[in-house]
Amino acid sequence: MAQVRVRFAPSPTGFLHVGGARTALFNWLFARRAGGKFVLRIEDTDRERSKPEFEEGIIRDLQWLGLDWDEGPSLGGPLGPYRQTERASLYRDQLKKLTSAGNAYYCFCTHKELEAERASAVEAGKSYRYSGKCRKLSPAESEEKRKSGLPFSVRLRVAEGATTFSDIIRGQVTVEHAEIDDFILVRSGGEPTYNFVVTIDDALMKISHVIRGDDHLSNTPKQILIYKALGLSLPLFAHIPLILGEDRTPLSKRHGASAVGEFKRQGYLPEALLNYLALLGWSLDGKTELFSKDDLIKKFSLDRVVKSAACFSYEKLQWLNGHYIREADEERVYQLCLEYLWDADAINEDFMREGGPALKRMIGTVKNSLKTISDVGDQITYFLGEVHSYDAEAFAKYLVPETIPILEKVVLVLEDTVAFSAMSLEEKFREVSKETGKKFAEFVHPMRLAITGRAASPNLFELIEILGKGRCLVRCLRFIQMIKAELSKGESVKTPAPPAE
Ligand code: GLU
Repeated sequence: MAQVRVRFAPSPTGFLHVGGARTALFNWLFARRAGGKFVLRIEDTDRERSKPEFEEGIIRDLQWLGLDWDEGPSLGGPLGPYRQTERASLYRDQLKKLTSAGNAYYCFCTHKELEAERASAVEAGKSYRYSGKCRKLSPAESEEKRKSGLPFSVRLRVAEGATTFSDIIRGQVTVEHAEIDDFILVRSGGEPTYNFVVTIDDALMKISHVIRGDDHLSNTPKQILIYKALGLSLPLFAHIPLILGEDRTPLSKRHGASAVGEFKRQGYLPEALLNYLALLGWSLDGKTELFSKDDLIKKFSLDRVVKSAACFSYEKLQWLNGHYIREADEERVYQLCLEYLWDADAINEDFMREGGPALKRMIGTVKNSLKTISDVGDQITYFLGEVHSYDAEAFAKYLVPETIPILEKVVLVLEDTVAFSAMSLEEKFREVSKETGKKFAEFVHPMRLAITGRAASPNLFELIEILGKGRCLVRCLRFIQMIKAELSKGESVKTPAPPAE
């Protein structure tokens, strides 16, 4: 078989979304597995909606996911250029071939005439197809109209019959030509249409397999008609299923993040998103869920792509992300958290001067419980700033007079401990619990609440060591004051003040 050459052909009219990223991934895996080429082509024929910042964004997101291409804009390659706006002369040449062979014709119908045709079809309850009025013009009539300066579009002459192709995923697909009218190849303003340019590009770039979203399935018969009219050999087609949200409607912003850049900003790791995208419509054996990039290259195949739509689960993606954060090395996670905290204004230069060295240790203590990098801000609030609120249930539990002597003891121990390390602190509190006959937990829980505001945290003694003696003492003393104040409020309610004499 000829060399495998596949392409990802985004339109730079928006940022890269999960659907596009998954298409890119499937193409990339298919090429890498076969030792073929992965081509990036920018489909920017819609000049009004295409923007350089979208192209840059798409490229940045593909690079972030680690999907590298062998040919593409900037990089170049033997069959470029790889941006459609730079390929106008190639389209003109192919169009000339079609018109001179009589496979395409000029259409002079005005917008108004076409609208009238459409309206009467709608009125008759039929779906609209172009009447083919201009296909009947003789070459001389057509030439004369063109010379007179009338605006025209160019349409493909579609013969009667049907087009059948065998899709790698969908199986045999047949479309009756009665469903397809003489569709436009070049608009009257001179702008070529998607179906025309995509066919020319895929053919001239020697694409062997067109792997793309299901939403393009209805375009494929039209493209096949163009290949045939030009005598070009056909690629194989594989249409991958749509991605739906959990409510079974096509995934969109309504469901949450759907752009790759958004997932990145929310603190997903590229390997987690990549792994998850692979599972959207593909499965190895129905049960394996963790795949590294190398595993995927070894195991990916189009025959295990399902026909039915894939359902996007944020929960599953988070689970995978948590897994990859736990697997990632500490320095990398620290750097990502640092970047996140800066961007979120949770830290600044002053903070870094004083708390910087401890921040790394602090992040190390929560690393294994992060589902996304952006969880870090919430998980270490008691380290980043003061404790302003307390877990309500735990607070209610410790809002009793018995908490006061316990925390007073905690204060004494903290004050007395010279070697302020997690290990020696823990030892000290175990001794204190023996001495006082109270359970170790009786000290740990209120102490945790006073110092972190939370009912649960990573190892408390490690936190105390990281936070330092001063901060921990202040928090415990303040907590004692608060309990006293709250309890005395309660007292004054219970025992009303005596009536004035
Ligand atoms: N440019 C098209 C899009 O963004 C893709 C075309 C194709 O894959 O054939 O949807």
